Amino acid sequence: MDSQPEPKDSQPDQPKDSQPEPKDSQLEAVIYICGDCRKEVPVKPGDAVQCRECGHRILYKKRTGRIIQYEAR
Ligand SMILES: [Zn+2]
Repeated sequence: MDSQPEPKDSQPDQPKDSQPEPKDSQLEAVIYICGDCRKEVPVKPGDAVQCRECGHRILYKKRTGRIIQYEAR
């Protein structure tokens, strides 16, 4: 009697990490204003507070609810 050995090494049925765990996706980014170039810089908690445009490290927190508008005519 010959029993056919099944080749188990041909197809590994263990899938690799196809779904990376979503991390930091639910953290809201806070909008800062660069102190140098005045660009808006979204900074997530844990991120380095640094302007991505000019590399300035002094950012001002953007005030929400109080918007200063100049009348343009
Ligand atoms: Zn900047």
